[in-house]
Amino acid sequence: MNIHEYQAKALLRSYGAPVSDGRVVFKAEEAKTAAGELDGPLWVVKAQIHAGGRGKGHFKEAGAGDKGGVRLAKSVEEAAEEAKKMLGRTLVTHQTGPTGKQVGRIYIEDGSGIERELYLALLVDRQTSRISFVCSTEGGMDIEEVAAKTPEKILSFSVDPATGYQPFHGRRIAFALGLEGKQIKQCVGLMGTLYRAFVEKDMEMLEINPLIITDSGELKVLDAKVGFDSNALYRHNDIASLRDESEEDSKELEASKYDLNYIALDGEIGCMVNGAGLAMATMDIIKLYGAEPANFLDVGGGANKDKVTEAFKIITSDSNVKGILVNIFGGIMRCDVIAEGVVAAVKEVGLEVPLVVRLEGTNVEQGKEIINSSGLNVIAADNLSDAAEKIVKAVKG
Ligand code: ADP
Ligand code: MG
Repeated sequence: MNIHEYQAKALLRSYGAPVSDGRVVFKAEEAKTAAGELDGPLWVVKAQIHAGGRGKGHFKEAGAGDKGGVRLAKSVEEAAEEAKKMLGRTLVTHQTGPTGKQVGRIYIEDGSGIERELYLALLVDRQTSRISFVCSTEGGMDIEEVAAKTPEKILSFSVDPATGYQPFHGRRIAFALGLEGKQIKQCVGLMGTLYRAFVEKDMEMLEINPLIITDSGELKVLDAKVGFDSNALYRHNDIASLRDESEEDSKELEASKYDLNYIALDGEIGCMVNGAGLAMATMDIIKLYGAEPANFLDVGGGANKDKVTEAFKIITSDSNVKGILVNIFGGIMRCDVIAEGVVAAVKEVGLEVPLVVRLEGTNVEQGKEIINSSGLNVIAADNLSDAAEKIVKAVKG
């Protein structure tokens, strides 16, 4: 689960990390009062969406002006004006995709004088099974470019879980970032603070880009992006309550209520598959035959008819879906259960696109019988490539 920048900063502040003072606003009318509570003389007005690259983004609507989602203002009035222009409008960044995200919250923050912009992240490194610090002197808005063109400028330090964070980790990071004098001590403290927050709150990722050195030589967290391990949310009610459902894909939100492993994608072929590996293979083979999957969906091993029905409804609710491929290898999952779910869902929501069904494994004959006697217009397929070929042909002609 992800949270907004202002929420991440409040969390880090509560751990003692240096962050600027700021106020969040949900309505344009609140902006002037909020900005007035800050000291100035520089205000930064920041669109709050669950995506990075806001500074270099652009708005779809002309009324938002031609600046991105992070704007400087020199007075309370100007800050309120910029907040008003962004609220309710759609911000497109390289992380949102072309549809962009609607801005429902604005964070107004004290402006900082910046001497250097650095990059820092903590993440769970699956290769070493450890928490790693990733840092670079090339912070700011183009870390993706740094990673692509000069990967040697990105350094990583992993922490042995047996010892946990130690001051030498912080010193290594400080030297890698070219810090001097009192900044080294600050860095050792700050890295310890961030590590503690990361572990205690079961974070998956904590990205600070940029971590800055202010014009008075202090370290400061200027942007913060935090993702939490959803499987651990049950023990963090404070974090779970920060969830902003308007940031989530409505189909994914619906799927999560039924405990379905569903991820929305941009293609035209809806997929219903059991098992994550088979779901991946199905997406690959759809691509191989020249189309794109509209989703990843693993209905899981123990799905019942209702779950399958819901899954099918979620797929058909996607207007991009021009055809559906059901690919089931029945092991624990029985083919007749899948077939019943598909038939029930089609009866409920109708079927306006071609449907290819490939069933194999446990109770395959019963499953085929249910589909064949349902009167549905289903294209039967014998194996995975046959199924993919048929659905792509049915959609693309
Ligand atoms: P994003 O990464 O989504 O573009 P950031 O919060 O990193 O958004 O802001 C983009 C840039 O705007 C930063 O790299 C920094 O140069 C500037 N900026 C952001 N917040 C402040 C602030 N409080 N004071 C001064 N400059 C800021
Ligand atoms: Mg940033």
